[in-house]
Amino acid sequence: MNPPVHLPSPTDDLQSAAHQVLSAVFGYTAFRGQQAEIVEQVAAGGDALVLMPTGGGKSLCYQVPAILRHTRGQGVAIVVSPLIALMHDQVGALEEAGVHAAFLNSSLTGEEASRVEREMMSGRLTLLYAAPERLTTPRFLAQLESLRERGLLSMFAIDEAHCVSQWGHDFRSEYLQLSLLHERFPEVPRIALTATADDLTRADIIQRLQLQDARVFISSFDRPNIRYLIVEKNGSPREQLLRFIQDDHDGEAGVIYCQSRKKVEETAEWLKSEGINALPYHAGLDADVRRRHQDRFLREEGLVIVATIAFGMGIDKPDVRFVAHLDLPKNIEAYYQETGRAGRDGAPAEAWMTYGLADVVNQRRMIDESPADEVFKQGQRGKLDALLALCEATDCRRVRLLAYFGEQSKPCGNCDNCLNPPATWDATEAARKLLSCIYRFHQRGQSFGAGHLIDVLRGKVTDKTRQHGHDQLSTWGCGADLSEQQWRAVLRQLIALGHVAAEGEFHTLALQDSARGVLKGEVEIRLREAEEKKPRGKGAKAGRTAKPKADPALGLDADATERFEALKAWRSEVAKEHGLPAYVIFQNTTLAEMARQMPADLAELGEISGVGAKKLEAYGSEILRVLGR
Ligand code: ADP
Ligand code: ZN
Repeated sequence: MNPPVHLPSPTDDLQSAAHQVLSAVFGYTAFRGQQAEIVEQVAAGGDALVLMPTGGGKSLCYQVPAILRHTRGQGVAIVVSPLIALMHDQVGALEEAGVHAAFLNSSLTGEEASRVEREMMSGRLTLLYAAPERLTTPRFLAQLESLRERGLLSMFAIDEAHCVSQWGHDFRSEYLQLSLLHERFPEVPRIALTATADDLTRADIIQRLQLQDARVFISSFDRPNIRYLIVEKNGSPREQLLRFIQDDHDGEAGVIYCQSRKKVEETAEWLKSEGINALPYHAGLDADVRRRHQDRFLREEGLVIVATIAFGMGIDKPDVRFVAHLDLPKNIEAYYQETGRAGRDGAPAEAWMTYGLADVVNQRRMIDESPADEVFKQGQRGKLDALLALCEATDCRRVRLLAYFGEQSKPCGNCDNCLNPPATWDATEAARKLLSCIYRFHQRGQSFGAGHLIDVLRGKVTDKTRQHGHDQLSTWGCGADLSEQQWRAVLRQLIALGHVAAEGEFHTLALQDSARGVLKGEVEIRLREAEEKKPRGKGAKAGRTAKPKADPALGLDADATERFEALKAWRSEVAKEHGLPAYVIFQNTTLAEMARQMPADLAELGEISGVGAKKLEAYGSEILRVLGR
């Protein structure tokens, strides 16, 4: 630890010492949620398992105890993380805050690695980040033994702990070896952290990491600053996306998820041609290009990344203002994790998704055609159904999301359905017509896809309807009163509910057993009213992009916004000099507070959340100068 940060003395009680670290090092005034309890548990030498949503503030849960234990002469904390790409920035952020930290991974030269090892072995380091495969090498284990013998092995933090479970979505076999930490160093406190763990995964983590004696801390999974918006695809989804970005997120950082590499490339190209600063990211790109794009996304402001789900593991960029899905994610867990990358700084952010019939059909087919066994597929179908129910929902999205994770909540007031309760209509009769039309085809030994079915229902004459004599069917034209869009919605819902299946290469439609109840009129089907197609640029907030642009996300007026921009420009310079992402120097929320409050002197500046002692000393007078003080 370097001066000038004034740390608690070893005689202070844990609680007040933890608060001192929080304010002196990180510049924050209060712990969030369960952070304080977690810190105490680990600092006092106990084990902990922490389940906290992305952006909840997991890092402090191990960084504060590590600092406390280090000031008490207990040596080095070892942080296990699979995210090699992030270690550099995490360590940079700690050093900026005046905490001596380092990482060991394959990106270091032999000489650099030896230097880090020397720092570690001397006990001078407060935190050492390492990848799991390094941790379990005989050489590293011997070094840990030596530290332990000298009382200099302070604790272990195991980040992304769900990687130890095959039930999770990021299983990594190297994580299995981490059980040896407990076997070899039973007296060293451990904290395992994850943002995603259902009951099975949680049980797995406890068992595999031998955390039976750990206190388990489960936070609410709610992310109140994220607004959930799910819209139906209407003709051109990417136009919908563009309008969403232009109207509400002009010049802001965002992530757009697509299912295929091809679509990623095309979407990024197209957005660029429309003036959006977008970059593609997928596993098929050259490793170098990928790294460069990720790096630019982290370091530059207002970049949009278009990506497959290969992107994001460990993107802890705090000021991502939106996450958009052009294709359905795999399930609700994936949706929640991906959308969770928005708004980690706590400022308003949006999760936007567009979905349509083709998504439903594709996802079902991918499950049906996968080589997995039937039990597994059944599980996957159940998860898909839950996601589709979320899409079709007419009530609060957040209530449904949280219910999925076992939490009860009240309508949130911050999702599309709460803000604009959708009109619904009774589609029971329409559903019956649709099902009986499929049934008529079936009686003739035929099956067709959605397009033809809807043509027959609407009585639209085509070559195909003529060729098959379908204008003779009793269902011909029985649904002329509904639009094609409405029929698609009905069909989508029927597929989502499992009454109809889309089969084979041509997605031909087949009735399922449960359709009988609907045909008989025993099941009510209510649907969202299809949304009107809005002309481009006429969205609710159109015109907001006109300058001078106040920053509504951060609640700044035009003058404050100008100061904010000046601070950001200054920050860019500093970040470049230090080779770190801008947010490591100060986060947007902190700069915004400075711009709003206009601190008169260093003392006032130091009161602002996010300004720790080291940063105040290093940058304080510069900031006052930028603010014209
Ligand atoms: P997670 O790892 O859980 O996704 P982080 O540890 O990255 O979350 O924290 C998310 C954001 O919240 C970071 O910008 C962090 O600085 C901020 N943060 C965490 N704890 C606090 C706190 N007690 N007060 C203010 N900001 C906090
Ligand atoms: Zn809601």
